[in-house]
Amino acid sequence: MPSLDKTNSSNISTGLEKLETLLKTLKLFEEDRVKTFEDWSFSEDEKCSISEMAKAGFCFTGDMSKDDDSATCFVCGKVLDGWENTDDPWIEHQKHSANCQFVKMRRSEDELTVEEFLDLFKHISRQYLTNQYKKKEAVFIEVVQNIREIIKNQQF
Ligand SMILES: [Zn+2]
Repeated sequence: MPSLDKTNSSNISTGLEKLETLLKTLKLFEEDRVKTFEDWSFSEDEKCSISEMAKAGFCFTGDMSKDDDSATCFVCGKVLDGWENTDDPWIEHQKHSANCQFVKMRRSEDELTVEEFLDLFKHISRQYLTNQYKKKEAVFIEVVQNIREIIKNQQF
């Protein structure tokens, strides 16, 4: 009697959950970038509004309680601060990071084709994994150096 392979279906749903978490972590969707802004200085009728910041690829990465309005691009990682209400986030992005893949596309999320969206996903996933690798590599190198010191200081 045929039966559903529950192992496979749970693997797919676990995989999709992981993918969803990764997409949220990478701030690939405008709505996830919007959520990073809490106490933003400018309203929605100003050029430098939260929705325009998110549209132009920025996530809030500062600390408003310390007067730090840093915002970071989810693709190129460029950090910009000192925003003014008349700043156009796209223009600022282009001015400071002309080689950003998102700036080169210069299209809002709903204008992207599936292929372009997947290209962006591939690009930022690679960067994310490279950064994760570099962090682990740095920890590994530190551990190796510590072990080397311990061995060097041992008296035989
Ligand atoms: Zn960028």
